[in-house]
Amino acid sequence: MLKKIVGHIKTITKHKWLVFKLCCRAGIPWRGFMHDWSKFSPTEFWESVKYYTGKRSPIPLAKAEKGYSKAWLHHKGRNKHHAEYWYDYETPQKTFIMPYVYAVEMICDNLAAGITYNGKDWTKSTQLEYWETKGYKKPIHPKMAAFEKEVYTQVSKDGIHKVIRKENLKKLYQEIVEKNRLIERLNEISKK
Ligand SMILES: [Zn+2]
Repeated sequence: MLKKIVGHIKTITKHKWLVFKLCCRAGIPWRGFMHDWSKFSPTEFWESVKYYTGKRSPIPLAKAEKGYSKAWLHHKGRNKHHAEYWYDYETPQKTFIMPYVYAVEMICDNLAAGITYNGKDWTKSTQLEYWETKGYKKPIHPKMAAFEKEVYTQVSKDGIHKVIRKENLKKLYQEIVEKNRLIERLNEISKK
């Protein structure tokens, strides 16, 4: 038990540190610092200790055994860097455009997780491959999906250091997400 506790704390700390470094590069250090603190709340912490293996995330293991993960439900309800936080089946659109800082924090989070779980097998194209097989399935606004995919595509060509930069990400978000937003709004209003 103690081994699992120590192991889990180490995993969280390592992940937080990696996300923080990426967020600093991306120009959102405060988001990097605030990332995933809720993992230390009792609901998230003890479930993840119980399902700790050191090799993969405890969340899918909890889901496989119990059918749901209380830790995940708690986590996604409080952390705006998850697309699932913004998902609401009762609204006409169901998914929303995530504010810039959270969209970028999500990308840093995914890259960090990919680096950690793949270890020395990680390459520049790992994230894009993951996106193409699994990532696109999550409930996410089409513009967010386009933004994410473009970042991972760029990473697969130019690597993290060139792509995860404030200027580059700002430009991409503006081009993919914000451009035409006003026109779309006006169209929606005129349709009513
Ligand atoms: Zn998170």
